[in-house]
Amino acid sequence: MRFFKTVVLSLLAFAQVALCAEDYYKVLGINKQATEKQIKSAYRQLSKKYHPDKNPNDSTAHDKFVLVSEAYEALSDAESRQIYDQHGHEGLKQRKQQGGGSHDPFDLFSRFFGGGGHYQPGQRRGHNVEVKVPIALRDFYNGRTTEFQWNKQEICEQCEGTGAADRVVHTCPTCQGRGVRTVRQQLAPGMITQVQMQCDACGGRGKSIKHRCPACSGERVVRKPTTVSLTVQRGMADGTRMAYENEADASPDYVAGDLIVTIIEKEPSLEEEDNPDRVDGVFFRRRGDDLFWSEILSLREALMGDWTRNLTHLDGHIVRLGRKRGDVVQPNHVETVAGEGMPKWHEDGDSVYHKTEYGDLRVEYTVVLPDQMESGMEKELWALFQKWRAKKGVDLHKDSGRPEKPIMRDEHHEHEEL
Ligand SMILES: [Zn+2]
Ligand SMILES: [Zn+2]
Repeated sequence: MRFFKTVVLSLLAFAQVALCAEDYYKVLGINKQATEKQIKSAYRQLSKKYHPDKNPNDSTAHDKFVLVSEAYEALSDAESRQIYDQHGHEGLKQRKQQGGGSHDPFDLFSRFFGGGGHYQPGQRRGHNVEVKVPIALRDFYNGRTTEFQWNKQEICEQCEGTGAADRVVHTCPTCQGRGVRTVRQQLAPGMITQVQMQCDACGGRGKSIKHRCPACSGERVVRKPTTVSLTVQRGMADGTRMAYENEADASPDYVAGDLIVTIIEKEPSLEEEDNPDRVDGVFFRRRGDDLFWSEILSLREALMGDWTRNLTHLDGHIVRLGRKRGDVVQPNHVETVAGEGMPKWHEDGDSVYHKTEYGDLRVEYTVVLPDQMESGMEKELWALFQKWRAKKGVDLHKDSGRPEKPIMRDEHHEHEEL
């Protein structure tokens, strides 16, 4: 009987947890092995998406915003995450009762993006920051998710943007928080005017702190290298600009502006790290959706045909070039290989609704003549050409009708100069 009771009770407890509390990992859309960075990144994305200022009159967005912030607070701290992993929501509840304070979701938001945690109209906005990221041609061809770093101004984590070592901000005693003080000035006897001046004690902020935060020296912000994930989609144009909303420099005084990333094509290099698969495609030149390549042919190949070349493309597949015996290639001839250019970028990518199309590959042939020939070969070729010259040779010089001797029109002038 007693055993039965315990089972029922624990079943009930289980049912309650399953009904009321959402799994924090699911809320953030991450798995249980997620790194600290992935947790942060999930919070950044979702908190912006569900921010109530962006979803007016949508109470579910508000609830989600609160939940996302709750999940982040629980999982971003190693100790609290461990408690959550072992004891679930119940464990966290107990920890909170023992004094682990909870944050206002808007405060948390402002620690990431600055300002007062709101996107209110009229609120000051920071500058946009422009960053150029060099990308290898093969990443434009294949598509790639990569990372880059930049020196970003962030709200100091240690003092949570207060600038104070104890995180306590006092009202400035000099100006009583007004940021200005009123000074009476006598302009002339009997003429007194009042002038408002910025409070020197607090620099006009109306707030003061007792001890400066050691991490930011009271500046409330710190600049540090920040890693940003970047997805280059197949066929994106060189110079494509991507905006990361509110990811520029953060400050407690304003809402962060946008980080604008421009991807630019990197010069190909001979270094192996840039070309691990040793593909020819690394040295393709791109113009829009088309690719360009120069191929060298020997005199024999250009004249007689019967040759092949295997070009390795940017993803390693092979484009076969060649001519049958008897097919002549003129120097500087440009051959168009249809469909072997860049993928044409499409916002849907490659999906059921849309199949990737490709530009063309243009191969320009350079014919190289030998500097020297073995004398035996030279003799045989000479004899061969002589034979055919005698039979039905053409004399391009004679046919051109150009004069045999120089035409001297101004002989006197030339003598004078000498
Ligand atoms: Zn600080
Ligand atoms: Zn003051």
